[in-house]
Amino acid sequence: MTPSREEIVSENREYTLFSWSVQSAANPITMVGGHGSHFVDADGNEWLDIASQLININVGHQHPKVIEAIKKQVDELCFAAPAFATEARGKLGKKLAEVTGLAKSFFTLGGSEANENAMKIARLVTGRDKIITRYRSYHGATMGSMTASGDPRRWPVEPGIPGIVRAFDPYCYRCPFGKEPTSCRRECVSHIEEIIQMEGPHNVAAIMVEGITGSNGLLVPPDDYYPKLRALCDKYDILLITDEVMSGFGRTGTYLSTQHYGILPDIVTSAKGLTSGYMPLGAVIVNQRIADFFENSMLWGGLTYSSHPVSCAAALANLQVYEEEHLFENATLLGAYLAERLEGMRASYACVGDVRYKGLFTVIELVRDKETKEPLAPFNGTSPEMQKLAGHLKSKYLYAFSRFNMLWICPPLVITKDELDFALSAIEEGLALVDEIIGA
Ligand code: PLP
Repeated sequence: MTPSREEIVSENREYTLFSWSVQSAANPITMVGGHGSHFVDADGNEWLDIASQLININVGHQHPKVIEAIKKQVDELCFAAPAFATEARGKLGKKLAEVTGLAKSFFTLGGSEANENAMKIARLVTGRDKIITRYRSYHGATMGSMTASGDPRRWPVEPGIPGIVRAFDPYCYRCPFGKEPTSCRRECVSHIEEIIQMEGPHNVAAIMVEGITGSNGLLVPPDDYYPKLRALCDKYDILLITDEVMSGFGRTGTYLSTQHYGILPDIVTSAKGLTSGYMPLGAVIVNQRIADFFENSMLWGGLTYSSHPVSCAAALANLQVYEEEHLFENATLLGAYLAERLEGMRASYACVGDVRYKGLFTVIELVRDKETKEPLAPFNGTSPEMQKLAGHLKSKYLYAFSRFNMLWICPPLVITKDELDFALSAIEEGLALVDEIIGA
């Protein structure tokens, strides 16, 4: 018999630790099943998941083709140590080279480890130490990736690993250089050149940035940001690493979000949408120059579960589902519809300061006052109004991700227009409630 919600929660609470939580405040929703954009809790409630869990379950819950591929691989071969060659590993590496335009993949178990290895590889290849990252970023929860992150989640481990230098972000709504679109000279790139000069170009191994910044506010860069950043890296022979853990693999309608901007990074890291979360897998995908370097130099690194055959098989099936079911096209089409609706919200609600979107990667930034742009909750904090909004969505069994003064709408790529409409009506009701509280 399936245990009750109370039984599941109490055992989880008593014997396990919840991430990013003060344990006494952890209040988990249970999950016992799911289908497409919905999951089911232990009370039988169906939730519409517009967060795609952790912005990763891109093909939706319990996709039969991915499940079947996992079962088939388990029957054939559950495990091979990473020194062995397997069919799934080779096929996945080939597929990733095709869709990214890069050369070879090193497989990890998730995004943090992928970034950890990307930084290590950049240091090995260049012989330089420093990595430039950005403040409004998250790269993972292992020591190096956590240090590389710019957001407050790094504070508890500081000073962390040496060699991380941070730059400001292309956050046009709150430009860190005080610029408006008309006065902007892309200081968000040019100040990085100054940082490179100050740190010594011969010391800088890589610039590592999220393809499109995810959990720090979905910061869509201006169209020429990446071409300029690429040129800067080329000028100083610095490697460009893009962390596509969240923004890659269909989330914005393309394999890599930088494919919107016509540039090719030297190293791409991936996880999340690589398997849609069905099995743990991350990848560090490197260009030919780096692949060639390791032909005659040692790759100092490995993981017992690197290139896990079941994870590789899950990824292959997941990528096949993307293509067979035209899910990137759905992300683009429904993304355009969602963008229209978000622009409508910006025009209609006093609390909507900014909306940002690319495909089905979208956020609403809430403010108390459109003129002053005072955030509805402080940086690294929350507020009664944000909690009211989150509470309203929860009451409608809508599972959404919110943080500080922002609400993300990043549904599975299989979501239908009707499901999206349901979510957007609930969100608009919540925004109206917030407007009432702030007296707009
Ligand atoms: N990089 C980015 C951009 C992420 O959003 C995340 C996780 O949210 C990570 C890295 C870390 O990935 P993982 O949690 O799989 O280690």
